Amino acid sequence: MTTPSRPPAVSAVSLDIWGTLLGSDPAFKPARNAMLRDALAPDVATDVFDAAMRQADRDVDDRVVVDGVDVGFAGRVEQTLLRLGMTAAAVAERAPELMARQETLALAHPPRPLVPGLPAAVSALPVPVVLTSNTGMLPGELMRKLLALAGFGGLPGVFSNEVGVAKPRPEIFAEACSTLGVPASQVLHVGDNPIADVHGAEAAGMSAALVRPDGESTLDALRGIA
Ligand SMILES: [Mg+2]
Repeated sequence: MTTPSRPPAVSAVSLDIWGTLLGSDPAFKPARNAMLRDALAPDVATDVFDAAMRQADRDVDDRVVVDGVDVGFAGRVEQTLLRLGMTAAAVAERAPELMARQETLALAHPPRPLVPGLPAAVSALPVPVVLTSNTGMLPGELMRKLLALAGFGGLPGVFSNEVGVAKPRPEIFAEACSTLGVPASQVLHVGDNPIADVHGAEAAGMSAALVRPDGESTLDALRGIA
């Protein structure tokens, strides 16, 4: 994995969230999927619904790195129902209620730092930091609460559902640089996805470091920023 050849001047850092800083609580997705299944597809077996949700999520993520079109909670639930051969017509109307229930479950099972030392390592960075994330099922508004619970509170966040496009599109990286108030050429983006994070950031004029999604790799990358 790359440790980045350090650019001449790193004046600020942009950090991916999932697989770079945070991982899910293993209890969250099963609880969230059970809630959605009970609400929308009670006749579908739990394992069948879980598999459809997982596959829909993956299919959407595979498309996002190609076209950068952000697909959020409702879109991913719709894709799950379509995979199950069901109609997705009810999802849009019920999305606010289902999102609220998802939020309750996420706050009860918040994500965790991939390794315990990560929040302190991010706080200790001597340069400004922004979090730049494709939000998927969990929108920025909820992510801010979850980040605070995981020890990353108070950091500015640039979230795909709020920007309207996802990494690897340059607009989201431009928004991150603008939040930092630093030219792209002086910003290092750290993330675990070679396309969304590395190609995306480099195409936006930033430098990039690819990390393994194990937390330790992120710690190594952060140690290199002095
Ligand atoms: Mg990631």
